[in-house]
Amino acid sequence: PAPVLAVVGRPNVGKSTLINRILGRREAVVEDVPGVTRDRVSYPAEWNGRPFTLVDTGGWDIDVRGMASRIADQAEIAVDMADAAIFVVDARTGVTSTDEHVVRMLRRAARPVVLAVNKVDDERGELQAAEFWSLGLGEPHTVSAMHGRGVADLLDTVLEVL
Ligand code: GDP
Ligand code: MG
Repeated sequence: PAPVLAVVGRPNVGKSTLINRILGRREAVVEDVPGVTRDRVSYPAEWNGRPFTLVDTGGWDIDVRGMASRIADQAEIAVDMADAAIFVVDARTGVTSTDEHVVRMLRRAARPVVLAVNKVDDERGELQAAEFWSLGLGEPHTVSAMHGRGVADLLDTVLEVL
């Protein structure tokens, strides 16, 4: 079977947009409001002739109090079933406490993780991405899921660990 790649992160960071970019078609639902992806949804994908299964995560109903743990729970199930994960964060918000919560879960799961700093739509965003080194997940890979910027480099890195 094809290896499984989970895409995790807070609502609204651009996970579904990134998945559509990788798939080359609009299949994952993208919304301006957080919490649209209801369940974990799998998509067959391919990069450089290598097949893999992409798993979108992160919708459900958000209640502010329980948000961090719910995100981590969903991400945890997806990561447990996956061979590797892309952890998507948002360059525009910077590091949040929820991001740090997800990092702790990812550490426990002990899967290879590639860090994608999304919404870096142009050169100017590159500098902001440096703060994500503090998550301790290695190099922050800057991407714009919306425009495709950096996504090929990200996938090359992901396939090295998948
Ligand atoms: P998800 O909740 O993590 O799946 O996030 P979505 O993919 O649904 O995207 C949430 C919002 O962020 C939508 O309004 C997207 O259009 C927007 N978005 C996603 N990727 C980018 C990006 O690279 N740049 C910008 N500027 N906006 C983005
Ligand atoms: Mg989504």
